[in-house]
Amino acid sequence: MSNFTIHNVVIPQADGYTTTDVQIVDDKITAIAPELNVTGTAVNGEHQLLLPGFINAHTHSSEMWLRGIIPPFPLELWLAELYDFPLLTPEKVYLSALGNAVETLLSGGTTVVDHLVLIPHQELDTIAAAVRAYKEIGIRAFIAPLIQDLPLSMGIPAGGKVQNHEPFFRSTAEILEFMETVIKQFHNPESGIHIAVAPTGTQLCTDALFTGCMELSDKYDLCRHSHLLETKAQEKLAQEKYGCSAVEHLQNLGYLSDRTSLAHCVWLSDQDITILGQTQSTIVHNPLSNLRLGSGIAPILKSRQAGVNVVFACDGASSNDSQDLLEAIKIGSILHNVTDFDYRQWITPRQAVEMASLGGAKGLNMADKVGSLEVGKQADLVMYNLNHLSLLPRTDPIGLLVLGRPSNVVSNVWVNGRQIVADGEITTIDVDGLQKELFNQSQWSVKQQSQITKDMEAHYRFVMGLGD
Ligand SMILES: [Zn+2]
Repeated sequence: MSNFTIHNVVIPQADGYTTTDVQIVDDKITAIAPELNVTGTAVNGEHQLLLPGFINAHTHSSEMWLRGIIPPFPLELWLAELYDFPLLTPEKVYLSALGNAVETLLSGGTTVVDHLVLIPHQELDTIAAAVRAYKEIGIRAFIAPLIQDLPLSMGIPAGGKVQNHEPFFRSTAEILEFMETVIKQFHNPESGIHIAVAPTGTQLCTDALFTGCMELSDKYDLCRHSHLLETKAQEKLAQEKYGCSAVEHLQNLGYLSDRTSLAHCVWLSDQDITILGQTQSTIVHNPLSNLRLGSGIAPILKSRQAGVNVVFACDGASSNDSQDLLEAIKIGSILHNVTDFDYRQWITPRQAVEMASLGGAKGLNMADKVGSLEVGKQADLVMYNLNHLSLLPRTDPIGLLVLGRPSNVVSNVWVNGRQIVADGEITTIDVDGLQKELFNQSQWSVKQQSQITKDMEAHYRFVMGLGD
């Protein structure tokens, strides 16, 4: 349990900013007021901005090994390229989880949702490696093992053509059994490690897999996660498979709830937005990967007006290709100014900060524990150095943080009261050693187009009406 008192730190209040002290006892915020007596360690907060930690609400950490290398393709062909790389090892999964966490922490994040890609036949070892990394570094982590029970080729609409698909290499029952083992072994919220159920999406999962995951979520009180309507092809596919939208289908299955967060939601109808609002589901907005893969611009302003909780994320590092949460928040805020002429709906920097912190917490069913600077909440806190050139000269600190290009401005981070960044440096792991490993276990290279993409491309172009 840690006790500390931050002195003279800048915090936002309704009509501006104030300089105050913040006291943390037993990992919880116990007082926010000027001139508090020191309890525990004294922390100098002078010329620093204190905010609740952000939530990086959707990523795939092991994609770090493939960032910057996959050519500009839409999701369906990009995925085929991704599958063409040699399998990772659990050791590499461990290193990329650490790398992902470092970048998230140093851009204001204190929680990460890792929709973790599993190494076939080493699924448990994959999860154990990520758990080890997140525990070591000390970031709060929701590990959502990425599961599917249909083969990749079924993720593209048939377009009226008869196609043959190889069955997926594991049965639905085996996958659900595996998930229950994972939950029993690793779900431990007190230690900062949560397991979430996360079928990858309706395009590659059966109803039975979604239903089984729902049952596990109810039985063990787990968050639910999934990709949803990321691409035009997925919208077409849902109509082919279900005769309705993927949102309506998930509602019919009962998957949508106040602890369900859904990555992307680019291709939503007005009816879909209404359903997401009614079910209190959360949209996880990944603006950079939506741009990188040409998926489209998610109807974020419309969704917010309909009362849907919208939060930000980086998405996997081979479709972004970074884990800078401040960058995702900036682009995710201002991107929508071009879709809606009514500037009164545009996202302000303060709203963006609230979406990234309290909104993110709400999407993970922990808004009562973290996400705001309030007495009684767990200390998931980030301090920003307002003396840094990228935050100068002095204007509106949150405006500069969201709309500017702050770099190296995170000075201190606490997760659950534990300090894991001090003076801009990660204190829990050896970052130099990590960099050395990432360097030594990779090489400079260029990707040649894979055979599997070539095989899929003609059909993809046909169903998307793109010509030869
Ligand atoms: Zn994703």
